[in-house]
Amino acid sequence: MSLPRVAPQQSLSEHYQQYLDQLAESGFSGDIEYSYASRLAVATDNSVYQKLPQAVLFPRNVTDLATIGELVNRHPLVKFSARGGGTGTNGQSLTDGIVVDLSRHMNQVLEINVEEQWVRVQAGVVKDALNDALRPHGYFFSPDLSTSNRATVGGMINTDASGQGSLVYGKTSDHVLGLTSVLANGEVINTTPLSLEEAQQQSRGSDTYSRILRQVIATCVEKRNDIIEKFPRLNRFLTGYDLEHAYNADEKKIDVSRLITGSEGSLAMVAEATLSLTPIATNKALVNIKYDSFESALRHAPAMVAASATSVETVDSTVLNLAKTDIIWHSISELITDIPHKEMLGLNMVEYNSNDEQSIKERIARLEEELTQDAKNGTNGVIGYQVTFSKADIGKIYAMRKKAVGLLGKTEGAQKPIAFAEDTAVPPENLADFILEFRALLDTHGLHYGMFGHVDAGVLHVRPALDLCDPEQEKLMHQISDEVVALVAKYGGLMWGEHGKGYRSEYGPAFFGDMLFKELRKIKSAFDPHNKMNPGKICTPLDSSDTLVKVSDTKRATYDRTIPVAFKDAFAPAMSCNGNGLCFNYETTSPMCPSSKVTRDRRHSPKGRAGLIREWIRLLAKEGVDSTSLRAEQFKTSLWQRFKNSRSSEEDFSHEVLEAMNGCLACKSCSSQCPVKVDVPEFRSTFLSIYYQRYMRPMKDHLVANIERMAPLMASVPTFVNMFLHRRWMQSAIEKTVGYVDTPILSSPSLKKRLDKNVTHYDYDALASLNDTERSKTVLIVQDPFTSFYDASVVEDFVSLCTQLGYNPILLPFKPNGKPEHVKGFLARFAKTATDTAAFLNEVASLSIPMVGVDASLVLCYRDEYTKTLGSQRGDFFVNTVHEWLLGVPDTTWEQAATTPSTKALALLSHCSEKTALPASEKQWQTIFSKVGQPVDLVAVGCCGMAGTYGHEADQKEKSLAIYGLSWEAAVKAYPQDAIMATGYSCRSQVARIEKFKPRHPLQLLLAAVDNN
Ligand SMILES: Cc1cc2nc3c(=O)[nH]c(=O)nc-3n(C[C@H](O)[C@H](O)[C@H](O)COP(=O)(O)OP(=O)(O)OC[C@H]3O[C@@H](n4cnc5c(N)ncnc54)[C@H](O)[C@@H]3O)c2cc1C
Ligand code: SF4
Ligand code: SF4
Repeated sequence: MSLPRVAPQQSLSEHYQQYLDQLAESGFSGDIEYSYASRLAVATDNSVYQKLPQAVLFPRNVTDLATIGELVNRHPLVKFSARGGGTGTNGQSLTDGIVVDLSRHMNQVLEINVEEQWVRVQAGVVKDALNDALRPHGYFFSPDLSTSNRATVGGMINTDASGQGSLVYGKTSDHVLGLTSVLANGEVINTTPLSLEEAQQQSRGSDTYSRILRQVIATCVEKRNDIIEKFPRLNRFLTGYDLEHAYNADEKKIDVSRLITGSEGSLAMVAEATLSLTPIATNKALVNIKYDSFESALRHAPAMVAASATSVETVDSTVLNLAKTDIIWHSISELITDIPHKEMLGLNMVEYNSNDEQSIKERIARLEEELTQDAKNGTNGVIGYQVTFSKADIGKIYAMRKKAVGLLGKTEGAQKPIAFAEDTAVPPENLADFILEFRALLDTHGLHYGMFGHVDAGVLHVRPALDLCDPEQEKLMHQISDEVVALVAKYGGLMWGEHGKGYRSEYGPAFFGDMLFKELRKIKSAFDPHNKMNPGKICTPLDSSDTLVKVSDTKRATYDRTIPVAFKDAFAPAMSCNGNGLCFNYETTSPMCPSSKVTRDRRHSPKGRAGLIREWIRLLAKEGVDSTSLRAEQFKTSLWQRFKNSRSSEEDFSHEVLEAMNGCLACKSCSSQCPVKVDVPEFRSTFLSIYYQRYMRPMKDHLVANIERMAPLMASVPTFVNMFLHRRWMQSAIEKTVGYVDTPILSSPSLKKRLDKNVTHYDYDALASLNDTERSKTVLIVQDPFTSFYDASVVEDFVSLCTQLGYNPILLPFKPNGKPEHVKGFLARFAKTATDTAAFLNEVASLSIPMVGVDASLVLCYRDEYTKTLGSQRGDFFVNTVHEWLLGVPDTTWEQAATTPSTKALALLSHCSEKTALPASEKQWQTIFSKVGQPVDLVAVGCCGMAGTYGHEADQKEKSLAIYGLSWEAAVKAYPQDAIMATGYSCRSQVARIEKFKPRHPLQLLLAAVDNN
């Protein structure tokens, strides 16, 4: 059959379309998106639920938010829900109305007042971005949460987020000084604490804020005794509306912000917030205490809290073991080492903060004495401990802890850890017993799970593994959910101790009791009488017959279970995404998803792309594609038909998927940085291979895929080819016809010319006859198309470096690597290339002489894409990267080559694919340079924006340059040009085209150091 067209399943309803049309003409300055892809990108969060909205709006300012509300007054059926990072674990932001996403444009820090210790921000600012802005002033916004690198302040306010350190730093609500919010009817309200008299006076007005104040006084002041009696005394807030703290009885003050905080977007859209700041403690210490069991860790925690720790965090062995298999462990392996002959089954991370260095040192010394005794005597289950005073190291350990939830998702098989009872809170003194019973409950159902939590606050995180595609297991989830509600009640706690209610809102009436739940509904009526804001969450207005959302509502699995197994297997990485949003990491120096960072468009993130693929394969199945397999070869379409399909204007959701895939740089950061290793380039190639069975390929794809065949020919006459490429008209013609810009210039003289005289040519028989000593002094250079033909001086210098170090370098004949074919989805051709090249490299490998490839990203293709494509046919040849090979050069050789040590540091800017796949590589380069006495700064940069050929594609150039601006531009400007080293060919080319100078490969500076000898 031919590949069918897939029409989006759900079109906009008429009243929403009318609303959006009017909004577009209303002066609304934000973005209005209602493509199926845009809607799907916000149809999930980190919960198990899925709900397709009608549209997504991206407001730019308070006026835009007010316009959204004002216009809704004329459209009774239109509903909406605010959204920030979309990291909710219980579907809080999901809606079938309109999503109002504040994260794209409303993300600025507006004002910092150090003297009065407050900051004013737009609600879409990411929590870590806020703290980056505050750090130079010596302050921070102290409520913490694991998702701090992608969750927004608006989301934190609306879930009253808190986490590590909450005993000392409190919850978000403790730091809200004032809010500017927009009500469902478009009215803008500014809420700051008011004296009771002021509130009473204002409540006499006729606007909505007056109505709200009247209700707040009636509920929070007049029913105060009932409220105090009902609510348990916990460090965590109950989420619902904070009736207790909206009225401060001691100070006789009313604070409406306290109601909005934790309201899960059901009362108002928060536009701006004024937040109090906390000074950063000058001294910190983190004591990592290792235990013989998780229970020992839990039972010991209260003693740490009593000893005035700032925070105590606990993780169990499941989480620890998962962390050990993740890229993150490289940064902390020295800080949490194993104890010989003992098994570490629990870990407490105990933090102490102080502005007095002496006092913190004394406190830690006392604790160390106790812990040493414990470890010696086997008391408290302590088996060892480690202390660190370095803030950088403490940050690294917390990064591991923050990744824990994501890591739990990394389990084999259909049963995946899911969030539904993941944030219970009980009084800390009950925690250990509660956990034992909770474990027994999960064990009874035979479930696997990992546990960690803020033991100081009695909060436990657990995600039992279930396969919700199995209807029986979905039922089990509902059953366990009910059982956990009963269990937390027994221990005087809460089921929603940290992450909010969302779809657990159905438990609200029973938890609050009839009387108080009615008061919540009255509050809702005062703010949003027509139930337009995030309907179904927390409660409904008093007079409304609308229902609450329920744990049993439609889940992502409802859709996933209709996808044939063979389709799931073909796109396995897309299926495994659990939506935790780590790929939205805002940090510009992190390699994680440059396309997501630069566009701030969720479709262009690994999560967005995975979601689109899932829907695409689901729809293909509905269109009747053979459910037993999903491969390009099974679709047959004549060239003529493809040509006609390409010219047709018929709607096809596949085009929307293509757009998202085309935005991907194939940098592969997701494949190692994502906790569950969602490898977008892998499924992107498969998608492209199938998509182009129905449509014509663009010329540039053919150009890229053929680069390895054309480059050797062109490189044999570089002067001639370059003469054309240098011409402006030629570049412009290439851009217009092929869609390719800044076409790279070939190396002249060619590599062949440069090396003809001073390198031995490959001769298998001659090499096979070498004796062991000769073999150990020989190195085989595996060519790649980029360095050999476009950056030949690097290969030439590598040859010289090998010679200087006493080795005999031999250049292997050029064999296509195939990566460009793979990137563009020419998978059948790639398989052929990989088969041929692997056969050659296996033959060479039989010589037992080290092979080295100069460009690491192409070397990595031999390890990853070759293995996935060829399986056992790949053979076991091994190509080293340059640094891997240099690490094996004996110390004595370096000693002979060593020069006068340098005092001026060089700057290493590593290729993102290389440092994410080989996390130790940067430090290893540092080690290599230390052997010639050369200090090296490891510069934190993300992607350079070039990524092979992405930066040369005309329609991506603007984004490519913007990605460079995120982290590379400043890093490159911070060092003298001659000190900058870049490991990637792409990165060197990108710097060259933007800065007009080409940084060198580290091996070239190493050669310079050795040459100086
Ligand atoms: C791996 C993982 C770990 C987590 N760890 C923690 C933790 O340690 N502590 C913790 O508290 N939570 C944690 N969470 C839950 C989640 O990150 C928090 O609830 C966070 O505050 C949500 O922020 P967000 O920007 O992603 O909000 P979203 O998920 O987008 O929205 C959350 C709610 O806030 C509302 N909302 C968002 N912005 C606005 C606005 N401007 N105006 C009105 N309403 C708005 C939405 O309607 C929704 O109801 C974790 C989640 C994950 C996935
Ligand atoms: S792609 Fe990975 S990091 Fe992103 S949401 Fe999915 S699982 Fe999380
Ligand atoms: S390969 Fe790079 S650009 Fe593409 S989705 Fe993964 S991280 Fe993003």
